[in-house]
Amino acid sequence: ALTTTEFDTIAAISTPPGEGGIAIVRISGEDAMKVITAIYRGKNLNQVASHTINYGHIIDPANNNETVDEVMVSVMRAPNTYTKEDVIEINCHGGIVATNRILQIVLSNGARMANPGEFTERAFLNGRIDLSQSEAVMDLIEAKTDQSMKAALNQLDGNLSHLIRNLRQDILDVLANVEVNIDYPEYDDAETMTTKLLLDKAREVRARIQQLLKTAKQGKVLRDGLATAIVGRPNVGKSSILNHLLHEDKAIVTNVPGTTRDVLEEYVNVSGVPLKLIDTAGIRETDDQVEKIGVERSRKSINSADLVLLVLNSSEPLTAEDRELLKLTSDTKRIVILNKTDLTTKIELDVVRKLVGAQNIISTSAMQADGLQSLEQRIAKLFFEEGIQNSQSNVMVTNARHISLLNQADSALNDVINGIDSGMPVDLVQIDMTRCWELLGEITGDSYNDELLDQLFSQFCLGK
Ligand code: GDP
Ligand code: ZN
Repeated sequence: ALTTTEFDTIAAISTPPGEGGIAIVRISGEDAMKVITAIYRGKNLNQVASHTINYGHIIDPANNNETVDEVMVSVMRAPNTYTKEDVIEINCHGGIVATNRILQIVLSNGARMANPGEFTERAFLNGRIDLSQSEAVMDLIEAKTDQSMKAALNQLDGNLSHLIRNLRQDILDVLANVEVNIDYPEYDDAETMTTKLLLDKAREVRARIQQLLKTAKQGKVLRDGLATAIVGRPNVGKSSILNHLLHEDKAIVTNVPGTTRDVLEEYVNVSGVPLKLIDTAGIRETDDQVEKIGVERSRKSINSADLVLLVLNSSEPLTAEDRELLKLTSDTKRIVILNKTDLTTKIELDVVRKLVGAQNIISTSAMQADGLQSLEQRIAKLFFEEGIQNSQSNVMVTNARHISLLNQADSALNDVINGIDSGMPVDLVQIDMTRCWELLGEITGDSYNDELLDQLFSQFCLGK
């Protein structure tokens, strides 16, 4: 029962920047039709059916109606649009310069430049999607692998919202019950009953929140990549293995915005697991006499890694440096790669097995491209056995804001439980429970203010 809020009319180029075959200028708002009819030559767009695409030209009224570009214009009238407002999309064919010019013309004819995410924000404000769904749209745009894409899509479907809303409903039910008991203190046991009810519910909801938080670590990895270091002494085959991992179009090199230095981060998609490779600069050098991946530098990489790939040369006995690296990585999730299996084995296999466990050892010959698939499978297995299979639902929390709210909700529940344990009066405990309910509501955008609680409560507590 939400009505569309009225806003001014916004416009932006909605296709990614850069040269492409086609670009789209999107306009949304009350005046979208007015703007397009002022700058379009073709059939009368006011008379075409909604959700049609129409051939024509964009003209510049400020420049003697000069023809600017040949376009296809999509007309989508409210409310069945992305923003629930009138939406116009101008499909331009003329490259980046023409597209920018069209945007400028749109802006001089009644639209305002949209802020980042403003179309999605409107979809939220107009009640078409909730907050976690709008965040999912952002995540989707940034998704680096199929897996993170799936997690974002899932969230877009509203799975997380659905789950959170169920939790909130449960809490609300128990709060309503508490309220009734507070109102009728003359009943015997009212206080005891209420306390037990609160305690049980707090424990139950807390378990479910912690389940969700467990997925968060993995969700973060899907978003940010699993920080992975490749270490090993010179000449064991690090560069060769790296080259295999980076093979073909699997490697994505991104320039991460928001960092002060222009750090280039390399991502590689290994069976759906995004690895963010740490410090490959030294490893990439082909002339190994200048390679400076000493133990000191390795130590740094290892410390910041979620996963370490430690490469050993299986055709040589373990050296002191190998043993040092084995020791340094003992507290990190690691895969030990015994490379150069095409040569005679001289490494002390039993020693390595004892130190790292057979399941964490992979034998490869980077030269003969042997064993590298097993390596990739092992990485995927390590990763997916950690989290996804642990989570009961396929909902995954990936968003920092959601994680923070879930943590706060968790601590509010902790306060509820501690409060009851220390004999705090029910109406005080109730405050913490309510706080939990509000925090969860901030995830979906359902709780805006405290009044909402009163409103809802008046519905639940009959006769109050
Ligand atoms: P890094 O110093 O650890 O990066 O090692 P490189 O990848 O640069 O390899 C060092 C040398 O070992 C190069 O001459 C490679 O061709 C060679 N090499 C790498 N992997 C293998 C392997 O699996 N078998 C054999 N026989 N040689 C290899
Ligand atoms: Zn190298």
